Amino acid sequence: MIQENLATVQNNIASAVKRSGRNDDITLIAVSKTKPVQMIREAYDCGIRDFGENKVQEIVEKYPELPDDIRWHLIGHLQTNKVKYIIDKVVMIHSVDSEKLALEISRQAVKHGVCVDILIEVNIAEEESKFGVSAKDALPLIEKISRLPGIKVRGLMTVAPFTDDADLNRPVFSALRQLLVDIDSKNIDNVCMDCLSMGMSGDYEVAVEEGATFVRVGTGIFGAREYKRVEG
Ligand SMILES: *Cc1c(COP(=O)(O)O)cnc(C)c1O
Repeated sequence: MIQENLATVQNNIASAVKRSGRNDDITLIAVSKTKPVQMIREAYDCGIRDFGENKVQEIVEKYPELPDDIRWHLIGHLQTNKVKYIIDKVVMIHSVDSEKLALEISRQAVKHGVCVDILIEVNIAEEESKFGVSAKDALPLIEKISRLPGIKVRGLMTVAPFTDDADLNRPVFSALRQLLVDIDSKNIDNVCMDCLSMGMSGDYEVAVEEGATFVRVGTGIFGAREYKRVEG
């Protein structure tokens, strides 16, 4: 099942790339939260190396069970006091939304002798239930944290509203892309705005058409999760 699902998702991404006339790379992150290591291994055996988890504890548990060349992405809300558990296990933290969190990531990265790529989570749609900074606060936050050691700001991430009609999220995705371009044009030292993490199972094709470089697909690869959809 996973192999077929992956083929479908990869084909859909390729078609969306073609439609949009893009020629840059898109990384499919298989979101494996709540799913057992056997399923992750199945996706790994199909060639997937990028996996996304939204809970620190799940990364900590799965990490030693799985191959070293997996690139783990922390995509969910991260509490400052838990940074230390995952700092040497993840390649990218997609959900940075405060100076306090960035400071702790920097502190732990230096302590562990690593450099971690981070994305700023932006609540483009201004949904009350969502984490992330508002669009207008993204640049000031990046300016504040850009020179911290051990971290590198690489771009922006958003969790778009849940909808049955993916096209409704097109303005959300294009607004995030425009924000990335605007911030990139400021040429901030040590900041490289080349990553745009947006699009989930219901809307990743639209996100690719609007410029996503990372799509985060869970259900579309691994099937439904055993709990009701909770935000964040
Ligand atoms: C769960 C999750 C996803 C994947 O959601 P699906 O709808 O199952 O594809 C993507 N991004 C974040 C931040 C998530 O928490």
